[in-house]
Amino acid sequence: MNSPPTFVPDEPNVFRAELGVSQEVGRNALSIRCPHCRELGSFNPVGNPRSYSKRGKFGPNTSTSTYYASIRICPNVKCRGLVFIIEDDNGPVEIEPPQLLDFNPDGLSPRLQQTLKEAVACHGAGAYRAAAMMVRRLLEEICDENKAAGTNLHQRLVSLKTAIILPEPLFEAMNELKALGNDAAHIEAKAYDNIGADEAQDSIELAKEIVKALYQLKGLIARLQARKAT
Ligand SMILES: [Zn+2]
Repeated sequence: MNSPPTFVPDEPNVFRAELGVSQEVGRNALSIRCPHCRELGSFNPVGNPRSYSKRGKFGPNTSTSTYYASIRICPNVKCRGLVFIIEDDNGPVEIEPPQLLDFNPDGLSPRLQQTLKEAVACHGAGAYRAAAMMVRRLLEEICDENKAAGTNLHQRLVSLKTAIILPEPLFEAMNELKALGNDAAHIEAKAYDNIGADEAQDSIELAKEIVKALYQLKGLIARLQARKAT
């Protein structure tokens, strides 16, 4: 008779309470960026957080760590979004949904908003290569909407440069981002192999600067000019 297969995870998972000691504990408010409204806030627990012990994720398997699980609520009254947080004594180790990089969708077309949102969501979920791919796509779409022509993304960005005010060194530094490589061969999967959290974040920050210069600054300038006209 075959015994049922035993589930053996490759890696210990903080979502699972191995030793199951549970008790009510008081936890302080946590400062996090809300994954729903993207505002920074002090999140208080809903009800009493529970503590549980398990073998340490970050230490030898023989050690036991205590984690605290809580559901917390966004203090922004327009949001009130719920977040599930696992902490140890040093602070949060998991936040679900994950915290997202801040971004401003003002002035963007729905297509650009969606692409930027997906890039940020991929970054938040730890899918860094996917985030970099979405940033590349965002830049392609921006060039498209602004009729910036060229045989590759790099040339199209150079063409876009005439339409926006961005520091010259920033344009030059763009080439350092592997995901934005300036010929088609660089776009192949290989170029994405070594993209980690930092490069993904830098790609998104760069895209945010371009978006700001192209759409948001123009909106501010138009409002200021309208003010002068009245
Ligand atoms: Zn919120």
